[in-house]
Amino acid sequence: MSVKQNLKQIEQEISEHLEKSSNSAHPHVIAVTKYVTIERAKEAYEAGIRHFGENRLEGFKEKKAALPDDVVFHFIGSLQSRKVKEVINEVDYFHALDRLSLAKEINKRADHVVSCFLQVNVSGEESKHGIALDEVNEFLKELKAYENIKVIGLMTMAPLTDDSVYIKSIFNDLRHKKEEIQQFNLEHAPCTELSMGMSNDYQIAVEEGATFVRIGTKLVGEEE
Ligand SMILES: *Cc1c(COP(=O)(O)O)cnc(C)c1O
Repeated sequence: MSVKQNLKQIEQEISEHLEKSSNSAHPHVIAVTKYVTIERAKEAYEAGIRHFGENRLEGFKEKKAALPDDVVFHFIGSLQSRKVKEVINEVDYFHALDRLSLAKEINKRADHVVSCFLQVNVSGEESKHGIALDEVNEFLKELKAYENIKVIGLMTMAPLTDDSVYIKSIFNDLRHKKEEIQQFNLEHAPCTELSMGMSNDYQIAVEEGATFVRIGTKLVGEEE
């Protein structure tokens, strides 16, 4: 399938699921291009996509060099502190802030205020990156010291399971945490955004108020 056809299908599903949501804003679709070639990424651009996501430094650099300047880049993967300086001034959004040492490095290397998502491990799976839900508030307090970091929202990855009720509860927990943080009115953490939902669960994420969905396989994957 062409990216254009995939996108049409995804947009349609988003609209349908938006009707079941208390949220009315249409989420941004981030095309996750980590599995695909530069050609396929360009096809996504031609199809009208402007938000692109990569999870590794190499892939990010490659796509950034190949795509036009009006692309908005999201770094969605965990980042080793030593690689921060190569990435942080090149991306528009960073989705994987999950530890203080990383915040410190970002703060040091950034030449501007960086829009970050806190990556939260809602499900508590050991294999997953991210801070525990009950540690988020404490972490936020510590981030106040870093003037180059702005927490614009929360990000999570749901477990790989067919249990949609469980997935929904994970996204719902993240939404509640976001709403709680908004109540704090923190200048360094407006926390208006929710980055959640991938190929297998973006419909559920939309129902739970996602403002950014990150889609790879179903959008740009499965090239002929
Ligand atoms: C790979 C990846 C995605 C996209 O995954 P698909 O299941 O292919 O849609 C989204 N978010 C993150 C953090 C990823 O690493």
